[in-house]
Amino acid sequence: MSQLSPTNPLTQARADDSALRRRRVLKALDDLVGDGQPTSVSPVARVAGVNRSLIYRHSGADDPAQQQPSPRYRLGENSQGGGMTGRIEFDWQLSGTGWATCRIVDATAEATYEVSYCTDALADLLHGLAGMYRPDPVERVSFDLEPAEIRWVLRGIGAGVDVSIHRFPDMSTSFGVPDADGAVSWRSTQPRSRLVHAVIGAAQKVLQEHGEAGYKARWVRFPFPVAALQDLLRLHLSNDECDQPHEPLAP
Ligand SMILES: [Zn+2]
Repeated sequence: MSQLSPTNPLTQARADDSALRRRRVLKALDDLVGDGQPTSVSPVARVAGVNRSLIYRHSGADDPAQQQPSPRYRLGENSQGGGMTGRIEFDWQLSGTGWATCRIVDATAEATYEVSYCTDALADLLHGLAGMYRPDPVERVSFDLEPAEIRWVLRGIGAGVDVSIHRFPDMSTSFGVPDADGAVSWRSTQPRSRLVHAVIGAAQKVLQEHGEAGYKARWVRFPFPVAALQDLLRLHLSNDECDQPHEPLAP
């Protein structure tokens, strides 16, 4: 599959969801105003089950994400792609209720994204990487930055994975549009073993630090992806000749 097609059920679901979310915002505003409660963005988002930027956009309120678009983002020298590099680091920090900071670094470039709980982002990335163990794999994983979309395009090439991260300014309009319409935010080709090992290690660190209950309390909308992590670890251990140490998964 090279691109999402208009008939892709995910694309249709996204379009349906967009309309549904707008109705939820209006209803939540009605309910909160009707209750006489002071209205701010977070309670509306919580009641409506939508992302916070959607409400900023519809209410005219100042959106901090709009004022400071990805302040910690830095485009690296390798954004046009390069050979296999010798360094890969990946980090996932729960940075607040419904937010995670995702950082990826290779020998020449670092990118950091503030990822929203609107999607099950860590689980989606683990599933996407698990797809790299199939023949001729291509997987796409989108993170919602409220409102930007960060789209990971993962391509298996021999023993490596080409990672291209594309950035689109507004996820509500970019879902399903071609990858090339987004700006390349970070790109690197890595040995699959090294890339997957780094992501597994970061996910295990999150689980060790927070536990399943702590993760759910912070990420709110989705539990920690235990099954996805176990599946990826199993694929990594049985298919990659990884010489780095591995932590067993906590029971
Ligand atoms: Zn490993």
